[in-house]
Amino acid sequence: MNSDRSTAILEKAIKLGATMAGIASVELLKKSPSHRILTMKTGLEIENFSGINWPQDAKSALVIALSHPEDEPELDWWDTNSSRGNSILIKICRELSDWIQKELNIKTYRMPYSVERGGIYLKDTAVLAGLGCIGKNNILITPEFGPRVRLRGMLLTEELPLTGPISFDPCEGCQEFCRKACPQDAFGERVLSSSETGLAELPGRDGSFSREKCMVQMRKDMEESDVDFDKGVQYISDVETMTTTEKLVKYCRKCEFACPVGK
Ligand code: SF4
Ligand code: SF4
Repeated sequence: MNSDRSTAILEKAIKLGATMAGIASVELLKKSPSHRILTMKTGLEIENFSGINWPQDAKSALVIALSHPEDEPELDWWDTNSSRGNSILIKICRELSDWIQKELNIKTYRMPYSVERGGIYLKDTAVLAGLGCIGKNNILITPEFGPRVRLRGMLLTEELPLTGPISFDPCEGCQEFCRKACPQDAFGERVLSSSETGLAELPGRDGSFSREKCMVQMRKDMEESDVDFDKGVQYISDVETMTTTEKLVKYCRKCEFACPVGK
């Protein structure tokens, strides 16, 4: 395994604008909690989903993070296409992928953001790559920026040295500010148990995270915005100039902002 090539990739990611970057093993990633739960009968399966189509020659997973601080809310506002932060991440990934293929002759697979669209679980990738741990708010918590980061990833056909996981757990002994802040009480009850799944690590760490309740809030946020989703109107943010779009959805981030880590 070539550590020079790995270091070059991570440095290039930062140079292109990523705040953090790391590398995980695809083989280990397939066995991570979220990927394993995906194939179990839990009653929480994604409808009409036949599983992740892992490229057979993929060996390493590269994950990049972009800091989304509370005082830059515009990075997290959505038009009907994407958030601006996500658009920036897509741009970094595109440029990084081109560079890796051209300069290092490694084939890359840029992955969509969501699993429903063919992506991989980025939070699990980030944990294995050493960017942080999963907090009690079911979000990646990084030592430097807390949960206020956004992720994107790609798969590479070369086996590279791994950058994680790390020993880090700020939730142990914390007063759970994140859970108390949720307007939908999404962490109020266990929806999965270890005895049911055979897994020690679960959503919200102990199975206390209701995606459905969080979705209720997301739908509320969409209704309260002035975006006309029925008309399919798209106001695409200009990543280069960051020009303002008028119609935006401001999704709930209370469980992120309440977390003191990285503040
Ligand atoms: S507020 Fe942050 S550190 Fe505390 S339990 Fe929640 S995620 Fe963990
Ligand atoms: S995003 Fe909002 S609604 Fe969803 S879990 Fe976090 S605090 Fe609750």
